[in-house]
Amino acid sequence: MTPLKYLTAYPASLQDQVRGLIADNRLGEYLAKRYPERHAVQSDKALYAYVMDLKQQYLRNAPGIDKVLYDSKLDVVRKALGLHTAVSRVQGGKLKAKKEIRVAALFRDAAPEFLQMIVVHELAHLREFDHNKAFYQLCEHMLPGYHQLEFDLRVYLTWRELGADRPV
Ligand SMILES: [Zn+2]
Repeated sequence: MTPLKYLTAYPASLQDQVRGLIADNRLGEYLAKRYPERHAVQSDKALYAYVMDLKQQYLRNAPGIDKVLYDSKLDVVRKALGLHTAVSRVQGGKLKAKKEIRVAALFRDAAPEFLQMIVVHELAHLREFDHNKAFYQLCEHMLPGYHQLEFDLRVYLTWRELGADRPV
């Protein structure tokens, strides 16, 4: 049976559906049908503006963000949903936490829905550190249908790694 490392938290029946699509070589088709578009947020500067725009809409009073970037070295296997790090830096004798949002570079070429899902996830971490109930409620508030999108994004990561039925 194909192990689906991005989908281990989901019910076995759902995982089996994905396995079925993989077996039939139809996973790419499933994704292409649902997510045919590609977003235009290509530079770190554009990504920063995109993140700040969403933050302004939903999390105006949350802590500020110092830096936003696409990170080509981000380990998608371990950190499938980006990194949220507070980098400590000494500034004027004081230790200051620097808030960065890093988005795995592969999401540069992804559907707009997936970029939005990743960014919403990272923004929600400004309020909630853990993946708890309040965290997911906030995600759903910022992006209705968040849960389905996170599932589909994990399916997308699975498909990318299989690389089997990519359109030519
Ligand atoms: Zn997270």
